[in-house]
Amino acid sequence: MDPRLTGLDLKTSLSALLDLVLPRVCLVCGRPLLPRERHLCTECLADLPETRYANLAHNPMADRFNARIRVEEYEPYAYAAALFHYRADAGYKKIPQALKYHRDFAAGRWAAHMLGERLAASPLYADVDLVIPVPLHWTRRWRRGYNQAALIAREVSRVLDVPCAERALSRRRRTRSQARLAGRTERAANVEGAFAPGRRRSGRADLSAARHILLLDDVFTTGATLAACHDALRRSCGPQVRISVATLGVVGE
Ligand SMILES: [Zn+2]
Repeated sequence: MDPRLTGLDLKTSLSALLDLVLPRVCLVCGRPLLPRERHLCTECLADLPETRYANLAHNPMADRFNARIRVEEYEPYAYAAALFHYRADAGYKKIPQALKYHRDFAAGRWAAHMLGERLAASPLYADVDLVIPVPLHWTRRWRRGYNQAALIAREVSRVLDVPCAERALSRRRRTRSQARLAGRTERAANVEGAFAPGRRRSGRADLSAARHILLLDDVFTTGATLAACHDALRRSCGPQVRISVATLGVVGE
């Protein structure tokens, strides 16, 4: 082999060859990707509508979330961050959709990694010691085969270098898909009391030591699902524990 052909060149050549057989396209605009591009073309990546919320303790998402969680007495303010603005009429919605509906795990991990990097670079999230995904009801998980929030949470926990407690919460009853419910009140009623701390002792042990928990989901719409998870966690954590939230996309603003 030509010694000038480095491992990287070989990998690029192989991926270019693979592109001929199975063309990879940009998730957002559908254009064929160049060999060095991953998931998004350079233009769509440059135009990603990032929120920059990870560095802002008070931002529209955090204010909306704190307004809907039940604050008993004194509780630390819940931080909230999303990687990008999710709009129904923009192509960027295809990033979480690729993971949720099309089993594009590589794209999901890639976006979750980027979210993790934004959180890791922020002092607000420096003391996060546990990551927990929004659970799916076991019947839905069984049908889909995976929980997209767990995949995001695992990648974020890797970047932050903290444990991910996938079974710390469980979904006790089946709920209708939030995506099919339009109203804020309807969405809240749908998930009210749907979550509870996991039954497994390992999950509870993780919770007892945590001081700053980060709840993960794919998209923040009204915050009803994450607020219901927050309430369930709060019942097993002391009031001094901060419970923050992070998602790939946030609707609104
Ligand atoms: Zn594109």
